[in-house]
This record gives sequence, structure tokens and C-alpha cells, in this order.
Amino acid sequence: MSEQRIAVVTGAGQGIGAAIAKHLGASGCKLVLVDINEDHLTKLSKQLDDDGIENMPVHLDVTNKAKIEKSFAAVKERFGSIDVLVNNAGIIRDGFISNITEQNWDQVLDVNLKAAFLCCQAVFPYMKENKYGKIVNIVSRAWLGNIGQANYSASKGGLVSLTRTLALEFARYLINVNAVAPGLINTPMTQGMPEDARERLLRMQPTGKMGSVDDIAAAVNFLASDASEFITGQIIHVDGGKSCGLLSL
Ligand code: NAP
Repeated sequence: MSEQRIAVVTGAGQGIGAAIAKHLGASGCKLVLVDINEDHLTKLSKQLDDDGIENMPVHLDVTNKAKIEKSFAAVKERFGSIDVLVNNAGIIRDGFISNITEQNWDQVLDVNLKAAFLCCQAVFPYMKENKYGKIVNIVSRAWLGNIGQANYSASKGGLVSLTRTLALEFARYLINVNAVAPGLINTPMTQGMPEDARERLLRMQPTGKMGSVDDIAAAVNFLASDASEFITGQIIHVDGGKSCGLLSL
């Protein structure tokens, strides 16, 4: 491992990803900020520069295997290693099963699941070489099932299975693979939901309130740190208790 850890965060441009980047930066990591949205990336990169946190913005679509491999090689070239990978980029295309188009199914599965597979595969040689690595996948409480999110729930359930399998495959190389499952978090993604859908979700929330991006970033920061050395293949639900059972009032 390099003296200062090198952390790649996908979907870093806003919301949970931006908070994860800020927390990892505050913990002393040098950051690689990956996002499809160039404006968000430029803004965040400037903020981090102002805070004295070294960062490298990478504008790409995480479903693009060739670009991921090229970018990770460039990160290795510039920083010497990749120590932390947070697969955070994700999208929703909600609807009841009869309304989900094949295109919406493919988009959600590609961004939420296939991209994490591609990033894990691309980072593996660098982490294996160092015998050190922390991979954190951002799943969702919805992996347990959620009406209107067949594509999203399936993608996150798949990502849980990928997490557990890679934890086993990578353990001998001292690479930890874990997941954080957020509940309802206040981000542009949830702000974009129809008002009635957001209110219905809030009613099912045991705490009666949404979580913050910092709640998620704190859990990721722990799993990316050496304090979590003996933890691998685990899913930490950061959801105000929602995974314990749905509250219907
Ligand atoms: P968000 O506000 O929509 O931010 C996601 C970021 O990822 C955006 O900057 C987005 O760019 C970028 N992105 C989307 N597709 C991409 C792609 N193909 N390649 C690279 N970047 C891409 O989302 P969020 O609410 O912070 O969610 C972050 C993660 O947490 C997701 O995996 C989500 O499923 C998970 N999660 C969120 C909640 C919640 O309540 N917010 C709950 C459970 C799980 P654009 O804005 O240009 O699309």
C-alpha cells in the first residue's frame, strides 16, 4: 500500500458519491473521482482542490470496459497503486413489472451491476500485486425486495452476491470486499422521485426520516479503513432500521 491511500469512487459527482469522496479525502486518501457528468466532476474537483485534497477527475461511463481499464492504468501510472475502490454509481428506472421496458431493465443492470463487475475486474491486478485492497459496493435496502423496483432490486441483489463471491475469491490476496446498503437518503436521486412515492417511502421508515449522505459515507470510510481488516463479504445496512421489517402505518 502506498503511504497515502489511493481511492477510486464511481458516481462521485454528486449525492452519496461526493460525500464518500469528501470523507475519504478527509481521512487522508488521494482521490480518483469517476462520473459520467462532467460539470459535477469539475465542481467537486475544484472544491477538493480548495480543501487541499489531491484528486484526479475521470469523466467516463462506468459501463465502458475499455475506458475503465485505460483510466485505471492511468491512475496506477500517476499514483503508483489503487488501494480503495467504491462502486457507487447507480441509477433508477422505476415501474411495476408490466411497465419496465427491456431497455430500462438493461440500463439499470448495466450501471448498477455490470459496471461494478467491470471495475472490480479492472482493479484486481493492482490490488493483488500490493496484497492490499478495500472494495466497497453501494447496494440498497431494496435488494431485499421493493414494489416498483424489480430492475433496481435485482441489480442490487446481484451486487450483494457479487460482493460475497469476490470476498471469497480475493481473501487470499488480503482484499476486503464489503457492501453498504443505504435506506432512504436525501440526494438528487430521491429528490427526483414523485412526491407521493417519497412520502410513501417515508411512512415505511421506522425512524420517520431520511438518512443523510454523511451517514453512508461514514460507513464506507470505516470499511475502507484498516479498522475493518477482518470484515469481508458483509452487508452493512445504513437504513434507520428499515431492513428489520417494513413499517406500515
Ligand atoms: P445520484 O444523486 O443520482 O448520483 C449518482 C451519480 O452517479 C451522478 O453524478 C450520476 O450522474 C452518476 N452516474 C450515473 N450513471 C453513471 C454512469 N453510467 N457512469 C458514471 N457515473 C454515472 O445518486 P445517489 O442517490 O447519490 O446514489 C448513489 C448510490 O447509492 C447508487 O448506487 C444508488 O443506487 C445507491 N442508493 C441510493 C439511495 C438513496 O436514497 N439516495 C438509497 C439506496 C441506495 P448523472 O447525475 O449525470 O446521471
